[in-house]
Amino acid sequence: MRPPVKPSIKSLSLDELTAHLKTAGQPAYRARQITDWLYKKRVTSFDAMSDLPQSLRDQLGDVFEFRQLETVRVLGSADTTRKFLVRLYDGSLIESVLIPASPALYGERSDRRTICLSTQVGCAYGCRFCASGLDGWKRNLMADEIVDQIIAVERESGEHIDNIVFMGMGEPLANLENLLRALQIINQPWGLEIGARHITISTSGLAPQIRKLAEQPTQFRLAISLHGATDEVRSQIMPVNRKYNLETLLAACDYYVQRKRRILFEYILIDGINDTDEQAHQLAKHARRLSAKINLIPYNDVEGLEWSRPPRERQEQFHAILRQHGVVATLRREKGHDIAAACGQLRLQVARAETAPVKQDPAAVS
Ligand code: SF4
Repeated sequence: MRPPVKPSIKSLSLDELTAHLKTAGQPAYRARQITDWLYKKRVTSFDAMSDLPQSLRDQLGDVFEFRQLETVRVLGSADTTRKFLVRLYDGSLIESVLIPASPALYGERSDRRTICLSTQVGCAYGCRFCASGLDGWKRNLMADEIVDQIIAVERESGEHIDNIVFMGMGEPLANLENLLRALQIINQPWGLEIGARHITISTSGLAPQIRKLAEQPTQFRLAISLHGATDEVRSQIMPVNRKYNLETLLAACDYYVQRKRRILFEYILIDGINDTDEQAHQLAKHARRLSAKINLIPYNDVEGLEWSRPPRERQEQFHAILRQHGVVATLRREKGHDIAAACGQLRLQVARAETAPVKQDPAAVS
């Protein structure tokens, strides 16, 4: 497939669009007409923008790319987590996951419909519980490819999404420029208009980028994939810890919290690796320092990886220690929501199936 030679119209902010139109001799109000067509009416071509002069539609088509994501496959049903496998313009595959309204999603009661978005094709960070990094990193998603996952999933599912988590394929903060651009389109009234309090960015712990995110004017929520409360344990699970150790990471988190931003710790409980009482006490200490909530996620088996889920009693004991320290922590129970650790698996299955003899997947619904 050909690479894009023109910038995508859906990667521009309202201000950038206004500036472009000004140089083309067009009035400023045309910019808002265009964003309404893109994000409110969701048209699929410049030609459909019927209240723009034909000459402007032609000019936009000359300068900008207008592309859409293609949904290749959907797994799951309307009342459970649904995974959407999406093909990009260059043939790369990514996953977006739609999570139905749930009484206990990501540590909080929620009646919101949530989408889990990808930000990169593959991932370079190699967290040992995650399938996304198994084939390495291929490229960053552009801003429009991040935003378009929401539009594609809403179109395919008929659902209205009002909560976003960046926990899909890729490390969002390793693609910070495109992420910030996409966040603006997702958040602003002229775009998809989803409030910053309903947008959570998850990171493996890129300390310098956490500081940059803290300096943004909009207060997005930040989830840290911690998974180990000492350097020794965390480095076994998260190779990034060798670059940004806990001291460096927690100092960046201090900076984030000082700017009145909320932090959540994600902690996948892995049998015999990070589920000891000692780790629970240390974890509680870090959480108290940052007033962070903790979301405990029992490990989800990943094909090709060797770890397993601790017994239920061990999970409960770990949880109890955190509560003894006065820390707000939730232990996820619903199996259908064990998606954070499973992101990347669908893409791997399909990518491998495409290079191997085809086998019918009985769970596929389209
Ligand atoms: S958990 Fe996130 S950062 Fe870690 S390998 Fe998976 S996609 Fe990359």
